[in-house]
Amino acid sequence: MSDLLVFGLLFAAVAIGWVLGRRSATSPPPVSTYFSGQFSGQPRADDPPADGVIDHLADGLAVDGGSARTHIAMGVQLRRRGEVDGAVRIHEDLLARPALPVEEQTRARLELARDYISAGLLDRAEEILLELVREFPGQCQAARGHLLEIYEAERDWRRAIEVAKALLPRKLQWEKREQPPLSRSQGAALRLAHYCCELAEAARLSGDLAGARKLLAEALERDSKCVRASLLLGQVEYDCGHFRQAVQALRRVRQQDPDYLPDTFELLRLCYQALGDQRSMREYLVDSLALRPTPALVAAVAADMVEAEGSAAAGDFLAEQLLQYPSLAGLSQLIGLQLGTSEGKPRQDFELLQTLSRRLLASRPAYRCGHCGFAGKNLHWNCPGCKHWGSIKAIGGPGS
Ligand SMILES: [Zn+2]
Repeated sequence: MSDLLVFGLLFAAVAIGWVLGRRSATSPPPVSTYFSGQFSGQPRADDPPADGVIDHLADGLAVDGGSARTHIAMGVQLRRRGEVDGAVRIHEDLLARPALPVEEQTRARLELARDYISAGLLDRAEEILLELVREFPGQCQAARGHLLEIYEAERDWRRAIEVAKALLPRKLQWEKREQPPLSRSQGAALRLAHYCCELAEAARLSGDLAGARKLLAEALERDSKCVRASLLLGQVEYDCGHFRQAVQALRRVRQQDPDYLPDTFELLRLCYQALGDQRSMREYLVDSLALRPTPALVAAVAADMVEAEGSAAAGDFLAEQLLQYPSLAGLSQLIGLQLGTSEGKPRQDFELLQTLSRRLLASRPAYRCGHCGFAGKNLHWNCPGCKHWGSIKAIGGPGS
């Protein structure tokens, strides 16, 4: 081999190596690299900055279905990591490609709407979701689910009712692979009933009792188990002076969900007092206790006995029941009864015990969500923690 030929081959090898080296330095790394590193889970210390990755994605984007799906998935991962700006950029870049297949275009729109919801840009999300409902039937169920989220956040109950009604007949048609936006316990009928209750509450507060009654009838038609509608109807009828109708509405709660029985007693007692029929109240309490013995019911029966039979009889009843259904509230009630009949040093001791038990009670939540565990002092119909409807109940029942 001549020197000239050897020199030529060496030069060609160096030139090829230089070109390949430059390409690898300037080309974006393959998508699989991002998934195995940057997007495989929680951020790592050696992760490249997200902006650089997104630039690579946008530059190297091929507009075929498979690649677009990969980019959509990557945008979703960014959103889950809290990098909503990056997710928006990826999904907007995709939608700017005129040759994007329709299926991926629809999917990217839905994900962009989710990005906007995460960013709190509800108006923009609503615009995209309404467009999806109008023009892309394949995603309209998921889009309606997110529209409900938006209208609930904005407390726009009229629009929420429209959307929930559209979801009613089609709720069994969700694609199996898609996570349904409304789980079974958060079905459209249950939500619809609560939306009617929201409007009914507003109507009652503005003095429109007839309007409130009509809305509550609709709530019960949508969801016959809606305890909230029965409680509100009881209040509306009481406000109207229709005490028998109020009693009828409130006693319906026992069939709907006995866990809410203690929430009916205060108003029920007022109704029976107005009717001059305290005996029926007592019978109802005793029947309910036999059906569903809970500390709250024991406390209610004992409170009723104080008026009917005196403190001594109520104290005996309470002491006996507390052995079976112990509760701090019941103990505090018993201490209160003992306090009323004691003097001197024993009275001072009971006063101290009552102060302590009241402090303990004040530091405890009274209600808890059966779905996410959120606990608080008041009954919320829409859980502030998980946004489920009707999942919060009084603590102390059989289910808590
Ligand atoms: Zn919850």
